[in-house]
Amino acid sequence: MSEPLAKKVLLIGWDAADWKIINPLIDQGLMPTLNDFVNHGVIGNLATLRPILSPMLWNSIATGKRPDKHGIWGFMEPDPQTGGVRPVTSTSRKVKAIWNILTQRGYKAHVLGWFAGHPAEPINGVSVSDLYPYAVAPLGEPWPLPPGAVHPESMRDTFAALRMHPAEVTEAAILPWIPRAAEIDQEKDKGLQTFSKILSENCSIHNAATWVLQNEPWDFLAVYYNGIDHFCHGFMNYHPPRMEGIPEDRFEIYKDVVNGAYRFHDMMLQTLLDLAGPDTTVLIVSDHGFHSDHLRPRGIPQEPAGPAVQHRQFGIVCIKGDHIKQDERIYGATLLDVTPTILTLFGLPIGEDMDGRVLVQAFDEPPRIERIPSWENEPGECGMHPADLRMDPAAAQAVLQQFVALGYIQPLNEDQEKAVAVAVREQHYNLARVYIDARRYTEALAMFEELASKWPDEARFMQHLAQCYLALGRRAEAKEQLQKLLTLKPKAPVRKEQPAQENAEPGIEAEAIAENKEVPDAMPSEALKPRPWADLLMGIIHFEEGDMDGALDCF
Ligand SMILES: [Zn+2]
Repeated sequence: MSEPLAKKVLLIGWDAADWKIINPLIDQGLMPTLNDFVNHGVIGNLATLRPILSPMLWNSIATGKRPDKHGIWGFMEPDPQTGGVRPVTSTSRKVKAIWNILTQRGYKAHVLGWFAGHPAEPINGVSVSDLYPYAVAPLGEPWPLPPGAVHPESMRDTFAALRMHPAEVTEAAILPWIPRAAEIDQEKDKGLQTFSKILSENCSIHNAATWVLQNEPWDFLAVYYNGIDHFCHGFMNYHPPRMEGIPEDRFEIYKDVVNGAYRFHDMMLQTLLDLAGPDTTVLIVSDHGFHSDHLRPRGIPQEPAGPAVQHRQFGIVCIKGDHIKQDERIYGATLLDVTPTILTLFGLPIGEDMDGRVLVQAFDEPPRIERIPSWENEPGECGMHPADLRMDPAAAQAVLQQFVALGYIQPLNEDQEKAVAVAVREQHYNLARVYIDARRYTEALAMFEELASKWPDEARFMQHLAQCYLALGRRAEAKEQLQKLLTLKPKAPVRKEQPAQENAEPGIEAEAIAENKEVPDAMPSEALKPRPWADLLMGIIHFEEGDMDGALDCF
């Protein structure tokens, strides 16, 4: 073991935080805490992995491994106990997270709200799961924590009392973000409900984190906030400049919500830094960015996890502490590098089976990096669950409904067998895309061949199948897939105009396509994917075959 380079480490997760939105706010003096942090630490882009789906990404951040190794492959998974489906769980993670490794080495490690963190793992510290903040009953009625939401069990009541209910969000909390809230017709427009839910859930997680920092000994604490991501999915279409097609009055009502979300996170950051103290090394990371400018998509594809088209490929990383450079930029960081870097800060070896590397550029002197073949084989209690732990079905349903409301999964099929088939299909689809992202095309191809033969109407499977054939130099087969793809009628995207619209209805474009009418002008061509993709790839094939006329027809 090398000399530790940090006394304590605080890892703060801001889902979807993006420099494109932060930089103008810092320039206007509206994120003073982060501005000071940036001036005394290193900053950079943090490249994401594909597919850009948050549960997979946050588990790569916590393990230093790609999803094929860590086992979290989307938003839901089959539940072997009920025969139905459930949100992804900590029992599905097949490898140790950073808090498991630190537990194994005797450190006091805490984790709060991490994606796929339920049931809370029995680590050497407090673990509060991602199901902790969900309000499952109206204010005033009993609102029990689901079993497994808090470890240790003896602290259950303490943490239950720290939660904030959406109905506790008062006018005083709403008006700074939405000054014209009184003009909203709450029968038709669910914007304030969405707002209160996101705000209260993030306050609950923040309360839990600050309680631990104030009351428990600690060496490491990881806290995850979904607020920026959820506020952006709900309100980014109202962020300035006004997007074409967004009515002026609604723009005026909701235009400050996204900036408000960042300013609120800046305030919470100040509290965390004050409580952590000056001798703590702090990392702030996001799993991806979020399109906020002319690249904002105008439509959401009608497929599971469709809203991920709003995600941008670069998240953020900022690090500040002893032995870390000041006011400098780092380059080439990916989210796989977070765990190896934290291990090095503690003077611990990194696993050779980790896919990330240590962010050596961040250190004022090159750190000594030790390696072991794998942390998975190291003996000792690491606070992971046995694989067969049961999840409370009611709690599972509450989370699944949240995923449906966000558009991350489609409304669940009442037929359990069909719901399981869809969950497995999406897991395989996501894993196959992990292989493409890692350029393991042979493994990806085998999975896409099976997906495309089982679900022949899914254009997305054909498109990726063609991509694999092309990458492997199998042109004729790629061409055949693309020809098939071009004959498929495109599914219309869903226009997302209402904030966090629940059960979004297909818009006028869908009707137009169904009736074979011309699509209205406002319809963006990119939303008709995968057709432009297929045209483009087909054009390239014709071009490479020397068929210029054929190529030109495609572009
Ligand atoms: Zn995310």
